[in-house]
Amino acid sequence: MFLTDQQKEQVKTFLAQRTGNARCLECQNQHLDFEPRLMALCTLTEDNKAHPIEMYRVVPLICHYCGHVRLFSAKIMGLEK
Ligand SMILES: [Zn+2]
Repeated sequence: MFLTDQQKEQVKTFLAQRTGNARCLECQNQHLDFEPRLMALCTLTEDNKAHPIEMYRVVPLICHYCGHVRLFSAKIMGLEK
């Protein structure tokens, strides 16, 4: 699911205000970009037969040099309720 223009601005503002690390944690490169869409990690909940998979939505921040990916919670960023 692609982010709307408003959501992209929300992500930029969030990262600028709440993360002080504008460098890659692995290679120290400063060319980082977030992927402009929501992605999800899946959690298996085997005891819940009706809904055995829960989605945990995230926004990836990617280093253009080494490819290291960091994930930020869409919920904490305010992109979902
Ligand atoms: Zn890197």
